[in-house]
Amino acid sequence: MTCLIDGYNRRINYLRISVTDHCNLRCIYCTAHQVPRLRHDEILRYEEIERITRMAVSLGVNSLRLTGGEPLMRPDLPALVKMLKAIDGIKDISMTTNGITLARHAQELADAGLDRVNISLDSLKEEKFRYMTGLGKLSDVYEGMEAAAKAGLNPVKINTVVLSGVNDDEILDFAAKTRDEGWHVRFIEYMPFASDDCGSGKFSENQTVSDDTIKQIIATNMGELNPVMPSRGNGPAKYYQLPNTTGTIGFIGAVTSCFCATCNRLRLTADGKLRPCLLDDDEIDIKTPLRAGISDEGIIELMSQAVAMKHEKHRLGEEILPASRQMWQIGG
Ligand code: SAM
Repeated sequence: MTCLIDGYNRRINYLRISVTDHCNLRCIYCTAHQVPRLRHDEILRYEEIERITRMAVSLGVNSLRLTGGEPLMRPDLPALVKMLKAIDGIKDISMTTNGITLARHAQELADAGLDRVNISLDSLKEEKFRYMTGLGKLSDVYEGMEAAAKAGLNPVKINTVVLSGVNDDEILDFAAKTRDEGWHVRFIEYMPFASDDCGSGKFSENQTVSDDTIKQIIATNMGELNPVMPSRGNGPAKYYQLPNTTGTIGFIGAVTSCFCATCNRLRLTADGKLRPCLLDDDEIDIKTPLRAGISDEGIIELMSQAVAMKHEKHRLGEEILPASRQMWQIGG
C-alpha cells in the first residue's frame, strides 16, 4: 500500500473532516459575531466526503474526526458516520462538538458507529459560559456529556481554552472535576489567527494562558501532576493525573510547545479544500476536480500533493499567522 508520508518523514493517518461552517454558538475566540456562511451547494455532499475518505484510507488513514463549525448543525450526521464506518480500514471515528444538541443525537451517532466525542466547554459558570459562547446554555452541555457517556462515546473529553481574566479563575474547578467526577479535561492554548478580532475586543492576545502556567497553578494548589498515557487519542495532548483520580488532565500547548514533529494530520474543509496544516494557509481544492469527474487516482495524487506541502512546523513564533480562514472555518 502507498502511504502518505510527508517531506519530514511524518506518516499521515488521521483525517479531520469539517462537515459544515455553521455554528450555533459565537465563542469569543472563535467566531464572536455573525459571519457569511457557505451556501448549501458549496459544502461537500456526504457522498463526496465518503469518496475522499475512502481514497485517504487506501493511503493508510485509519482515524477520522468530524468537526465544524458545529458538526451537529449538519442534518442527518449519523448517515455520514454510517457511510464512513463502512469503509474497510477505519479504526476510529471521533467528533468535536460544543455539546449543545448532543443529548438529542448521542445514541443515534453511537449506533451509526461514532466511537467517541470531545466536548468544548470553557466555563462551569452559567453567566460566564454565556459570555464566552454568546448563546449557550450550560445545562445543555451537561446533558450532552451525560448522554454521550450513556451511549458509550467514551472517553468523553472536555476541551477548555483558557484566557486570563476571563476563565482562568476556573482552572482549579476544571481540575477538581477530574478528581471528583472522573472528567478528562484538556487545556488548549489559544491560537492566534490574523483575521481574529479577539471577540470584537472582549479579550486580547496577551490574555492567553500557557500550559506551563496552568500546570503550575494546579500543582501548587492540588498536588503533583503525574504523567500518564492517553486512554485513547490521535493528538498532541500530553496527559497527567492528580493523585488518586480516575480522570485525566491533558495539555495542548500548540503555541508554547510546538508539537509539529509528531503531526499525523490532514484536514478537509467543509467547502472541499485539503488543508495540510491548521496554522498555515496552503490548501488544495479537491471539490472542483471531484465535481468535474476526477478519477480515484487523481484524488490520490491531490492528497499526496497536499501532504507534500506540509511545512516542518507552524510559524506562529515568527508571527506568521493563518490569515485566509478562522478556526470555525477549519474545525480545530
Ligand atoms: N463546534 C465544535 C466545538 O465547539 O467543539 C467544533 C469546532 S471548534 C472550532 C473546535 C475546537 O477549536 C473547540 O474546542 C474550540 O474551543 C477550539 N478553538 C476555536 N478557536 C480556537 C483558537 N483560536 N485557539 C484554540 N482553540 C480554538
